[in-house]
Amino acid sequence: MRMDMDNMKKDIAILKNTSSIFKTMRANYISKFIPSQGPHAIVIKVTDNCNLACRYCYRENERKKSVIDPDTVLSLFDQLAESSNSEMECILHGGEPLAEMEVCREICDKINNRYYAPRIQFRIQTNGTIINGEVIDMIKKYNIGIGVSLDGVLDVHDKYRQDCNGRGTFDTVMQGINKLKAEDLLSVGVLCTVASHNSHRLVDFLELAKQLSLSGVALSPFSGSADSDMTPDNKIYAKGFREAVEWLEHHNLNAEPDKRMRLRELDSIIYSIIYPDTPNKISMCYGLPCGAGTKHISIECDGRIYACDCLCDIEEAFLGNINETALADILGSPKIKYFSEYTSNNLEECSECDIKGQCGGHCPSRKIAYYGENSDWRRKRSHQCNFYQEIIAYLRKRMKEPSFMQFAEELMKAKK
Ligand code: SF4
Ligand code: SF4
Repeated sequence: MRMDMDNMKKDIAILKNTSSIFKTMRANYISKFIPSQGPHAIVIKVTDNCNLACRYCYRENERKKSVIDPDTVLSLFDQLAESSNSEMECILHGGEPLAEMEVCREICDKINNRYYAPRIQFRIQTNGTIINGEVIDMIKKYNIGIGVSLDGVLDVHDKYRQDCNGRGTFDTVMQGINKLKAEDLLSVGVLCTVASHNSHRLVDFLELAKQLSLSGVALSPFSGSADSDMTPDNKIYAKGFREAVEWLEHHNLNAEPDKRMRLRELDSIIYSIIYPDTPNKISMCYGLPCGAGTKHISIECDGRIYACDCLCDIEEAFLGNINETALADILGSPKIKYFSEYTSNNLEECSECDIKGQCGGHCPSRKIAYYGENSDWRRKRSHQCNFYQEIIAYLRKRMKEPSFMQFAEELMKAKK
């Protein structure tokens, strides 16, 4: 068996060096003999640089204006493609990736010329303030899915999402979203960071998303320390979330199919209630374990690979540097085992909880941010515990109502 694998690798290496007429042959060879395995969501920190100075930015104090070398990204994807026949997402992230538009373009171009390009879906997560004709051309050329950060209506968004002179960015982001929509390009949707300023105003956010004719929005709770005044209060967030669910239920049950909307976190929780024994297909963060290091990795500007982009600079999530270490060794790091075994099933504080299979609160990065890296965060239940307790109890109760189940089943269609 070992010999077979060695011979196979040699054959692949030979095919790698042959001319383009063998590209298809090589791709077929890999798809036939190499299994689908390993990480498939790859976050590329294109740059530390950003044109904004949002108050809650986790990169704020470490902005060095570094930029990744596209060849480093190519080397990572070449090795990923050799080791698995999975489809993969190449997620251009930052800082603000579009602050380094040429680097984004070069990364897409290089990967697009590889034999495995049909397996790659490009995505960009942007603050939405640098959307111009060049960006739109690039998005079209490489079929890039685009996600824009928007925290809500004007006064909410502008509270923290400001430029370097302290001016709000809502109007510029709306212009960006409208330019993308005019080209029918907003295929991923809008990501709202939920902090203390907007956790009670989620319905306003959904109303805005409806006005913009968005089909999908996502919430990402602010990841901060226990003493941060931006960390949302669980009770207030739970109330805001319930209101959002009721708004969405009413909207979707009355809207034409093409006008219905999705809320990723609601989809994730409903999925985990309906299919408790199936890996969560909507969000890897709701899986047990989460996808850090197994389904997901990130690469920093200098080639350092982490188990998750949210764990960057956390020593125990550092897996190796792709410029110095082969990917096979990086993915063989014993540190991955740690994250792949970190689940509520192993937490004493959660042992009696009857929703531990549905709770989305086990993100190590959020616990580290909240409790501190040198605390005993590993043994602690989520600081969002009360939020999940309340929301899951609420949804379980609502799912006994036929009309709510109709709404929930519509959300789940094609997800199992
Ligand atoms: S709801 Fe609380 S106790 Fe239950 S699994 Fe989640 S963090 Fe643990
Ligand atoms: S570490 Fe957190 S953000 Fe990263 S995959 Fe796990 S749950 Fe998701």
